[in-house]
Amino acid sequence: MEKVVIIRYAEIHLKGKNRGYFERVFAVNLEKSLKGIRHELHRTSGRWLVEKFEETRAEEIAERISKVFGVHSYSVGYLVGSSLEEIYAGAALIAPREGTFKVETHRAYKKYPLTSMELSAQIGGRLLHEFPALAVDVHRPQNTVYIDVRENGTALVFGSFEEGAGGMPVGTSGRGLLLISGGIDSPVAGYMMAKRGMTVELLHFHSYPYTNEGAKEKVVALAKILSQYSLVTELCTIRVTKIQEEIHAKCAAELNVTLLRRFMFRIAERFASENGLQCLITGESLGQVASQTIEGMTSSNAVVTLPVLRPLVGFDKDEIILRSKKIGAYDTSILPFEDCCTVFLPEHPAIKPKLAYIEEEESKLDVDALVEEALGTAERITF
Ligand code: ATP
Ligand code: MG
Repeated sequence: MEKVVIIRYAEIHLKGKNRGYFERVFAVNLEKSLKGIRHELHRTSGRWLVEKFEETRAEEIAERISKVFGVHSYSVGYLVGSSLEEIYAGAALIAPREGTFKVETHRAYKKYPLTSMELSAQIGGRLLHEFPALAVDVHRPQNTVYIDVRENGTALVFGSFEEGAGGMPVGTSGRGLLLISGGIDSPVAGYMMAKRGMTVELLHFHSYPYTNEGAKEKVVALAKILSQYSLVTELCTIRVTKIQEEIHAKCAAELNVTLLRRFMFRIAERFASENGLQCLITGESLGQVASQTIEGMTSSNAVVTLPVLRPLVGFDKDEIILRSKKIGAYDTSILPFEDCCTVFLPEHPAIKPKLAYIEEEESKLDVDALVEEALGTAERITF
């Protein structure tokens, strides 16, 4: 008898002709997520099985699998021989010791000597006999023992279906560049695009020495949390200090954020083009702050041609916070470190600035040279 993790996949089956491709990417992603844990991964009819690992690591494996997009559900259980004795041995380990239960059997191997009902009854009867505090309730059991009789002379026995991360395998929906700050929103935005199968590379702007080492470590910590889902283990940082100082010295204070945002987009687009990335992704949500009005978004879109995806655009802050907690980023996101956007923050940022006014103020700067200089500060952090 061997402990295994059973993985069932989600939307992959929708993709007709591309199915083979989706499944290959999915398998690669499962392998990536299990990096550092000895195991074998096998494809079986419509499912994957993680086998041959140290039993004590089963929960850790399950935890990692729970974050892989494309996983519909998973179960920790036992791979056993298909004799009644062996199936019972697995069931006895899975079954609760008290309360109500039922046994549910599925037979892929139709020539098995017992029908599904008969096998369930036999196993259930023996469990009742061995554990007197158990009672059968086939309608509303507290626990279920699932038995899957496979075609190759083995069976799977498990006790629950755990909900997977859903979505599509990362790597099947193109490549985007997430502008990641140290805040709550952008990690969630990255999570959402990765869930739809996009490979999400990361770019962070800092304004050292106005922002410090702590701020950088916080972003790396967020990037690591995101990487459990997105499987991307690299972050690029670019310094925009000079740009902020120039804006502060030469342009109308109320446009500080608007102008900085346009620089961020220009730099991000250059970075994306040089790295084969097809779109920019931000954590903006309509109306959340002064720069996230439709006018603000229009003004930053105006300086790039790549599509800008804003997966949180229609979400309330409460909804974003819920998601942030769910993915395990929230506690890190709320650590108090300065982001470059809060340096030189004007007291009254322009809420609906006209494009002509923005361009006039911006013309006081040597935009191309500043962009070029910033790109030269790019640093890659691998974690
Ligand atoms: P977040 O919670 O993601 O920080 P926010 O509510 O603080 O967002 P803004 O500061 O207006 O909003 O930032 C909007 C978006 O711009 C962010 O979601 C992020 O995508 C991008 N952004 C902001 N600051 C940075 C930064 N320092 N580096 C990279 N991207 C940034
Ligand atoms: Mg922020």
